[in-house]
Amino acid sequence: MKPFPKSRDSLAAKLSKSDSDLPAYYGLPNEVKFCSICILSNQRPASAVEFNHSDETKKVTLPINGEVCDACRIHKLKHGKIDWASREEELRELCNQYRRNDGRHDCIVPGSGGKDSIYAAHLLKYKYNMNPLTVTWAPHIYTAWGWKNFQSWIHAGFDNYLFTPNGLVHRLLTRISLETIFHPFQPFIIGQKLFAPALASQLDIKLVFWGEPESEDGNPIAEYGTSEQDWKYFTSKDRDSIKLSGLELGILKEYFGLKEHDLKPYLPVDPQILLDAEIDVRYMGYYELWHPQNNYYYSMDNTNFKPAPERTVGTYGKYSGIDDKIDDFHYYTTFLKFGIGRATYDSAQEARNEDLLRDEAVDLVKRYDGEYPERFAKECFEYMSIPESEYGLASKMFEVPMITNEYFEMLSDNFRSPHLWRKGKNGWELRHACWMKKYLKT
Ligand SMILES: [Zn+2]
Repeated sequence: MKPFPKSRDSLAAKLSKSDSDLPAYYGLPNEVKFCSICILSNQRPASAVEFNHSDETKKVTLPINGEVCDACRIHKLKHGKIDWASREEELRELCNQYRRNDGRHDCIVPGSGGKDSIYAAHLLKYKYNMNPLTVTWAPHIYTAWGWKNFQSWIHAGFDNYLFTPNGLVHRLLTRISLETIFHPFQPFIIGQKLFAPALASQLDIKLVFWGEPESEDGNPIAEYGTSEQDWKYFTSKDRDSIKLSGLELGILKEYFGLKEHDLKPYLPVDPQILLDAEIDVRYMGYYELWHPQNNYYYSMDNTNFKPAPERTVGTYGKYSGIDDKIDDFHYYTTFLKFGIGRATYDSAQEARNEDLLRDEAVDLVKRYDGEYPERFAKECFEYMSIPESEYGLASKMFEVPMITNEYFEMLSDNFRSPHLWRKGKNGWELRHACWMKKYLKT
């Protein structure tokens, strides 16, 4: 393998003057459509199995049939057909099946101590009389307020296992993910999804509770309606198909000097191990009507959870996903790759839940989406830099080991999909956005 080069061309810049036959990267649909209820576009990729993800992956994206997206169709089901009283009864029965009275933990709630994990853990303990163990895969770089909220969670009456992956390995995988798939959040997502089920089997705690199903936020509707999480997200029988940071394991070992024990926390579990341990992985959002803003108020009322003291970059919000400094870059990269930034994700969810009017959501997207994450940029670039003094072999795989503003900008432009971006007189502009006249209803 050759080192990551110091410069790459931007096809989007080159094709800026064309208006037709523009290639769409990442398997995105060529024709851009926006949901008439929640403003999400059909470019929104579904949550993927990250340990199969490479630069050749074609994304499954949000279906918009007619003018309404699948997430909004699910919302309608939630507020129509579903009988929540009988779902609550199902949850009681499930808890009765697993509850222990001998002092051992009887369920695991993975999370960071944000509003959703607080809500799930608190409900299980104080309403359903369970004895949950909370488990946390640490953020890349804690924000001060994220760390405080994590502590508040524990002090609201919960035991916690915090796993912090090897910093040298985690930084290297984060940097490689940036280079290969422009996805600096990938190592976190992988670890977070695998950690709880794997730990459950080791500790003999059979029940694991996630928050809302992936489909409530934009995975296809076909995945909705089951209480169990698909094991594809955390197990694999086929080691040869596994990729981390977009690269095969053999390459990570040969060229980047990573060892088997370095990779182990990121490798999906053999499903047989979980079957033998009778692990049962569920969504709380199947049993309880999930409403993120309500979870926020619930967390404020029942624990010392506090919103961030400042507005989150790229959006208007202060209380969602606020514990990891790299998160700013996560949403900035989704904006460049898919035209969908953090204000879109936030306001689409709130418009769907009727916390916002659609017009307000459109205005917020116009105002905040794609805002450059200046506030933690220096620290995040240092985090993702691979100096020779720390990395020896791996450092040689980057023609530019230390990330600079210019290098990040070059990479950014390389990953902009030509069907979404053009470079005009005033710099980069989106070809399609929900606030543009052509997409606004009169
Ligand atoms: Zn929608």
